[in-house]
Amino acid sequence: MKDCIFCKIANKEIPSKIIYEDDTIVVFQDIEPQAPVHVLIIPKQHISSLNDIDEDKAGIISHIFTQIPDLAKELGVHESGYRVVVNCGADGGQSVGHLHYHLLGGRSLTWPPG
Ligand code: AMP
Repeated sequence: MKDCIFCKIANKEIPSKIIYEDDTIVVFQDIEPQAPVHVLIIPKQHISSLNDIDEDKAGIISHIFTQIPDLAKELGVHESGYRVVVNCGADGGQSVGHLHYHLLGGRSLTWPPG
């Protein structure tokens, strides 16, 4: 989608530190990491938010989750633990309107979130 920063990252129109990519998803370093490990997992297809997930997109969502254990291994947090977060909408803290999963780890993460 035109003017979507994460579509531009997926299309390599703007630079990012990509750590994994396949036909469906791109995983890259968050530009403002909140933990020693902080990557974003995005579908290449533009999906605005969790609110736009439906049965047609179930395959993409399933694919994201099936990649997470291997990503966690690659990032060195598979054993220590990690958190996967999706912010949705204004109150959820979503600042980029392209569905993304934060994978955070490398330190003890507080709960509940603020
Ligand atoms: P959210 O607040 O859940 O929408 O998360 C958006 C995330 O995207 C934030 O953690 C930002 O630091 C990150 N971000 C924004 N622009 C970029 C970029 N160009 N490259 C990498 N991460 C970005």
